[in-house]
Amino acid sequence: MATPDERRAKLVELYNSLRDHECPLRATRTKLVFGAGNANADLMFVGEAPGAQEDKMGLPFVGPAGKLLEQLLGEIGLERKDVFINNTLMCRPPGNRDPLPEEIEECRPFLVKRIELIEPKVICTLGNYATKLLTGSPRGITKVHGEPQQRDVAGRTVILYPLFHPAAALRSTSVLDLLRADVHRLPELIAAHEPDPEPVPDEEQLGLFG
Ligand code: URA
Repeated sequence: MATPDERRAKLVELYNSLRDHECPLRATRTKLVFGAGNANADLMFVGEAPGAQEDKMGLPFVGPAGKLLEQLLGEIGLERKDVFINNTLMCRPPGNRDPLPEEIEECRPFLVKRIELIEPKVICTLGNYATKLLTGSPRGITKVHGEPQQRDVAGRTVILYPLFHPAAALRSTSVLDLLRADVHRLPELIAAHEPDPEPVPDEEQLGLFG
């Protein structure tokens, strides 16, 4: 297992290697949105694709959907610096259109690489694109939201936890209620996947070794 510093260094290396990467959206995007947050996070969020503000700033979820995500994280005692936030696509599709299958395929290895380097325990897929990509199933978010699924991703077992996309929650209060209820179950889910603590030897055993 990598140390925290090794993880951070490898992630920076990946970011630097991608800044000039040629891809179908390179010509129309402003900035590559690699992802941001804690390189050693147990919890990762995967959204769809950068929007206008993300494209301008080179950071994920900095617009209205991001503000809602931050608020919901706050409700469970987390901040952005505690988690890693990234997207299915690293570049904004022109006019915020839906990602095309070939764009998702092109970007997929880099998402997998980030997962491999960060080694999160739980990955929240936000909305249909991230959910279908990482679950490998066509079942949409309305059916699978709030259902944790154990999957092998990047050679490790992780818990995928599909959530409605915050942008959809901004358009509908009933979706917001569902998203909030699902987010509020996250602490329990993360705690359930903590590794068992190392057994602490009792006094008597310690005495055996002088
Ligand atoms: N929507 C997304 O899916 N990702 C972002 O970074 C912003 C909005």
